[in-house]
Amino acid sequence: MLTVSDAVGAIPGVGSARAGHLARLGIITVDDLLRLLPRRYEDRRAVTPIAALVAGVAASFEARVLSAGPGVTPRRRLRIFRAVFADDSGTVAALWFRFRAAHLQSQLRAGVRVLVHGTVTVAARQREILQPELELLGKDGERCTPAVRPVYPATEGLPQATLRAIILRALEAALPGLEDPLPPAVRARHGLPALGESLAALHHPVIDRSAAVPDPGNSTWRQRLAFDELFRLQLQLAVRRQRRESARPRKVRPDAEQLLNRLGESLPFALTAAQTRVCREILADMAAPRPMQRLLQGDVGSGKTLVAALAILAAVAGGGQAALLVPTELLAEQHYLTFGRLAGALGVEPELLTAGVSRARRARALAGLADGRVPLVIGTHALLESSVRFSRLALAVVDEQHRFGVRQRLVLREKGEDPDLLVMTATPIPRSLALTLYGDLDLSTIDELPPGRRSVSTLVVGQSGRRAAWELLRDEVAQGRRAYVVCPLIEEDGEEDPTAAVRAAERLRAHFPQFVVGLVHGRMPIDERSRAMERFRTGEAPLLVATTVVEVGLDVPEATVILVERAERFGLSQLHQLRGRVGRGSLAAHCLLLTGPRPSPEAIARLGVLARTSDGFEVAEADLEIRGPGHLAGTRQAGLAGLRLADLVRDRGLLAAARGEARRIIAADPLLEFPEHRALRVLAGAAAFEDGAAGGAG
Ligand code: ADP
Ligand code: MG
Repeated sequence: MLTVSDAVGAIPGVGSARAGHLARLGIITVDDLLRLLPRRYEDRRAVTPIAALVAGVAASFEARVLSAGPGVTPRRRLRIFRAVFADDSGTVAALWFRFRAAHLQSQLRAGVRVLVHGTVTVAARQREILQPELELLGKDGERCTPAVRPVYPATEGLPQATLRAIILRALEAALPGLEDPLPPAVRARHGLPALGESLAALHHPVIDRSAAVPDPGNSTWRQRLAFDELFRLQLQLAVRRQRRESARPRKVRPDAEQLLNRLGESLPFALTAAQTRVCREILADMAAPRPMQRLLQGDVGSGKTLVAALAILAAVAGGGQAALLVPTELLAEQHYLTFGRLAGALGVEPELLTAGVSRARRARALAGLADGRVPLVIGTHALLESSVRFSRLALAVVDEQHRFGVRQRLVLREKGEDPDLLVMTATPIPRSLALTLYGDLDLSTIDELPPGRRSVSTLVVGQSGRRAAWELLRDEVAQGRRAYVVCPLIEEDGEEDPTAAVRAAERLRAHFPQFVVGLVHGRMPIDERSRAMERFRTGEAPLLVATTVVEVGLDVPEATVILVERAERFGLSQLHQLRGRVGRGSLAAHCLLLTGPRPSPEAIARLGVLARTSDGFEVAEADLEIRGPGHLAGTRQAGLAGLRLADLVRDRGLLAAARGEARRIIAADPLLEFPEHRALRVLAGAAAFEDGAAGGAG
């Protein structure tokens, strides 16, 4: 008997050569092999009379062997094997160039009835079939092999017939002892067929004479196998999450209502209901005896910064320190200003730590963090350096977290003893993917924008619309508002090339002599850039030309227009982020997506998604659908390679189901020790239960 965890070498007829070919398909174990999804089914149920065979069309016919034997071609004198077949309608010859004569000779004795599969060609006015496949018929002329057969992904050295035979052999040997890792209750809840049934149906489909041939990719059998993949991933995440629950208990329990009041009193507006709800979720989590690990999602402009402020306030109120990590210096400087303004009311004075701060200031910050005098530090990657030490880091906040990798979050967290972690994102990660990538994090979602926001009217504009676009810029700026003009970055060897932005600024200055036009890009000196930003904020330079350094987080409520040059060069999620720079106050706002000359129809259609929807989730899902998960930031580390059948877009329903079931099971049986979870433990992979497997998205 064969078990699914055996290596493929244990299958009779699979030696090291075939095992090597299978390994190239990523197939190591019997389980891998049985989970190889057929690409399609080949339907050989129809039988064509010989006279009706059409050149160039593959067909099957049933015939008698008239004659068969080896020979040579008349002109080039190549060795061949030739047979002539006949049925009631006519005759046709078949030629083999690669053959084992003894084998063919024994199959093709004169008078024997065979089923022949092949494609007729016409050579020298002769109809012949090259290298046809043969199927011997039973005593009474009945077929012995299935007429509908799976076609697998092709691999060199493994002909379909061989692969099919190996899989059927493995299936037969493994089915009797096969344990279904999915508990019956889980299967029942989600209408999933049993494993054995699914594998048998995929590899050995039994299809009525008249029924249509199914698409294996669209079957419940595939769904069942896809669920297993997603479930495995979610089990591993659930295990990590569970392990975190058992971390060292802590004491601090901030008074949620008091903190909310304090924050509320310092603001000129009321928190939205969604902000208040997620604030309570976060405070409850911070008061729980194990460290928080929470993902805060909220569309651009939904007000995540204030939620972070509240978490920071709670950490500091509990006697700890907080760190806020952001991806760009511009954003660090902005947050520093925002928290500086709140400092009076909240009593939390921030320090700034970026590559650009002066030596003296840096030394002061480092000393203050190490001795505990500095309660909050805001910074970029500079925060991650080993010279940055905390006296008592209680909370790490990562803003725009999709810009960071798992490693960087870990480095920051390790600067404290199991600090709380809050990662924030403006949903460029679709929910389906977030559940996969961050399944071990808890999720809080701000699903509401502050009141009075109007959706940003978004237009895709061709080159002929440039004049009208510029007029809109002029009108808005003339009314005292601000406008961004964003140019794509031309990167070579990782070096940013701001040429496009510099040129655009020159053109705008020539065209609008009445306005001061500012410029920011990643390669200008830091203080010059800060000054340009400051003049934009105050309105002194109301037109700002920028590279994508302004992509994330920037908050200038007076900005009402953003014009993106060469919009087709940006990803949808990136454009959505850019669009989020405007419409942050109550004024009507515009996003103009200017395409280059002759954009492709696909590009126009893609940009059309933004014109249609202002919902970040939808944009992200569309982006995922168009570009695939590989393009989304942060996906590479997440073990998505383990997904072969599952499709995060198509199978998002399955994904959510898998997550729920995984959490339920791990909560009841954290180490999967129950006897009925034995096969599940194998599915989850032993690695998930060994020490050191923690970490991941944390
Ligand atoms: P994001 O979620 O994109 O980080 P921000 O935190 O930068 O959004 O907030 C966007 C803007 O909305 C800021 O100007 C902020 O002051 C403002 N804001 C946040 N919360 C509210 C609220 N409840 N009512 C009105 N304005 C708010
Ligand atoms: Mg933000």
